[in-house]
Amino acid sequence: MNDFLIVGGGVIGMMTAWQLADAGHEVTLIERGQCGHEASWAGGGIVSPLYPWRHPESISQLSRWSEDYYPELAERLLAETGIDPEYRQKGLLYLRVDDEAEAIKWAQQMNKPLERVDADFLYDKEPNLAPCFDDALWMPTLGSIRNPRLGQALRAKLQSLVNVTMQEGVEVQGLQYRNDQVVLKTRTGPLIAAQVILCGGAWTGQLLKTLGLELPVHPVKGQMMVFKTPPISDGRLLLERVVLADGRYLIPRADGRVLVGSTLEHADFDKTPTDRARASLYASAVAMLPALARCEVEHHWAGLRPGSPQGIPFIGPVPGIKGLFVNAGHYRNGLVLAPAATRLLVNRLLGQTPILDPTPYQW
Ligand SMILES: Cc1cc2nc3c(=O)[nH]c(=O)nc-3n(C[C@H](O)[C@H](O)[C@H](O)COP(=O)(O)OP(=O)(O)OC[C@H]3O[C@@H](n4cnc5c(N)ncnc54)[C@H](O)[C@@H]3O)c2cc1C
Repeated sequence: MNDFLIVGGGVIGMMTAWQLADAGHEVTLIERGQCGHEASWAGGGIVSPLYPWRHPESISQLSRWSEDYYPELAERLLAETGIDPEYRQKGLLYLRVDDEAEAIKWAQQMNKPLERVDADFLYDKEPNLAPCFDDALWMPTLGSIRNPRLGQALRAKLQSLVNVTMQEGVEVQGLQYRNDQVVLKTRTGPLIAAQVILCGGAWTGQLLKTLGLELPVHPVKGQMMVFKTPPISDGRLLLERVVLADGRYLIPRADGRVLVGSTLEHADFDKTPTDRARASLYASAVAMLPALARCEVEHHWAGLRPGSPQGIPFIGPVPGIKGLFVNAGHYRNGLVLAPAATRLLVNRLLGQTPILDPTPYQW
């Protein structure tokens, strides 16, 4: 029997599997599609909550730990898999922020650099932005990753580990609790392990329903687009750093591509991209960076965020069900929170001192 069965191969499931395997355990990861192809692929890759001062302290705690850890994580994945998750720490420019005082106060408390900068500074950093902004808030330490590559690197890492079994294309159809044991039902037969960890993202609530349990994790659809930008002659990209205005953001990739995101839609489990969202994202992108009007829209997609009350993830044991754990509901911040959120649960599973107080994340 395996030590651990993990359901769901997004960043949460994969990082959990990696850490448990690193500690010498036998781990099986069950994924109904291919690992890293749902929300963890669809996201933008900002390694911070969008407006971090607007979130509860429990999110800031996880985020701070993860942000500190991301450079090391990316370096390790590149060295061990040859796949570069493209962690870049180029900072973020906030445009038109109406709660600046709260932002500055939060930054002081968190010991984060955040300052108001004038138009000269702004256009020196990003000369191609629309010429309509008087100032900005500047957070120089903000990082981003290319999350589809993060997913590929994690998957490659797991494939290289002898104590990890990856079962892709296998759906867990439901859970049963028999004789103090959690049983996973699959098309090919039941699966059991000493401990089962549910990392099913937006679908985690559905899985728990099969046990008669209600976890308030629900899908929140997000649509994004990517523009392919032409090579720039002086070696400078059209956009170098993340820019955020009125809830919409532009994220540059190292090869010059620019992503625009995102919508927030309550549309059940429907992932169909819509013309309406495309037009709205396009308008936001061109309003911030007019040169994008001359660039090709390479792709437009949608993903399902695992929404939860206040965006606080559920991390820990499922009450009343021995051997069952959950790590889900990271909402808009699962990519940034993943390292800390998974480490916190692994601490619990392995009887280690927790990196953070786990209380705010209990079911
Ligand atoms: C448009 C958009 C932009 C975003 N931008 C950012 C950002 O910039 N920064 C950030 O930090 N976060 C961002 N996010 C949020 C982030 O992507 C998610 O919070 C995170 O990826 C969740 O990871 P996860 O592993 O829990 O879920 P997922 O990546 O969705 O993984 C869950 C996995 O479980 C599998 N699964 C589910 N049910 C079953 C079953 N019954 N049997 C087998 N397998 C199953 C699924 O197939 C899936 O692969 C964004 C999300 C979206 C959609």
